[in-house]
Amino acid sequence: MDVVVIGGGAAGLNGALMLGRVRRNVLVIDAGEPRNAPAAHMHGFLTRDGMPPGELLEIGRKEVRQYGVRIADARVTEIVRDDDGFIVSYDGTEVRTKRVLVATGLVDELPDIPGLRERWGRSVIHCPYCHGWEVRDQAIGVIGDEHLELMFRQLSDDVIRFEQDQVTAITGTADVHLDTGETIPRQAVAIRGRHVARSEILTQLGLTPTPHPLGEFIEADPMGRTAVPGVYVAGNVTDLSATVLMAAASGAKAGAAINFDLLQSDQR
Ligand SMILES: Cc1cc2nc3c(=O)[nH]c(=O)nc-3n(C[C@H](O)[C@H](O)[C@H](O)COP(=O)(O)OP(=O)(O)OC[C@H]3O[C@@H](n4cnc5c(N)ncnc54)[C@H](O)[C@@H]3O)c2cc1C
Repeated sequence: MDVVVIGGGAAGLNGALMLGRVRRNVLVIDAGEPRNAPAAHMHGFLTRDGMPPGELLEIGRKEVRQYGVRIADARVTEIVRDDDGFIVSYDGTEVRTKRVLVATGLVDELPDIPGLRERWGRSVIHCPYCHGWEVRDQAIGVIGDEHLELMFRQLSDDVIRFEQDQVTAITGTADVHLDTGETIPRQAVAIRGRHVARSEILTQLGLTPTPHPLGEFIEADPMGRTAVPGVYVAGNVTDLSATVLMAAASGAKAGAAINFDLLQSDQR
């Protein structure tokens, strides 16, 4: 393989698209758990606004396959360096590759408040650009963050902020139960959580996540090059605030950078 792309979300698939179109031999390995899967619709992506998240990926898969890119529905469990390339293991299979693009996304860590996780991506939301319009003028509860409160106040006059340790449960659509015994009826709850890069594969290669006020991420240059030669990253694993469009764009940039890198080493 020229390139193994680990993670087939918007970032990984757009990287694969660029590489496939210049006739690179590419395998995408995807565990099928994109971050926005709980949401019914995706917003803020010009020409795709309101599309179900799964539909974008389905179209993306079709597009990359047109250029000979192969896709394996599997989880990468191990990666090791092998001379100037890598051996990637998934599903009992090993594949050798010259370069690797890791686009494994991030995990949204939420506080352990009963009822929160089940409503995540529906009536419990984090991103005003993704879901804000849909809850405009509604009764909104914000848990924790003053910055988030400010943003949701742009969208509704009925916003109440709670400290995280005041909240004991969420029930109904988004009713907030407090440690005083009160229940505050809300139609939506906003909370940011911690954004933690899915970096298990990268730590195997010697990279360490960098702490960030929002969580932790893997550092890279603007083209997605990490400190380990031959290892590139794109999307939420390296940019915690990237939306789908931004993740796709970073995948495209990393794809182009990998191709250039391979062209240079092909000439040596
Ligand atoms: C509830 C919710 C709603 C959102 N709504 C919007 C929205 O409306 N608009 C918007 O622009 N953004 C939205 N976002 C943000 C959006 O989810 C991210 O911008 C986007 O998913 C980032 O794309 P990505 O390719 O970096 O990662 P992901 O889409 O998370 O894709 C990563 C992929 O890598 C796979 N993977 C991970 N580890 C491995 C491994 N070891 N082996 C193989 N595969 C692996 C995962 O299973 C997954 O399929 C939302 C986020 C959340 C939480």
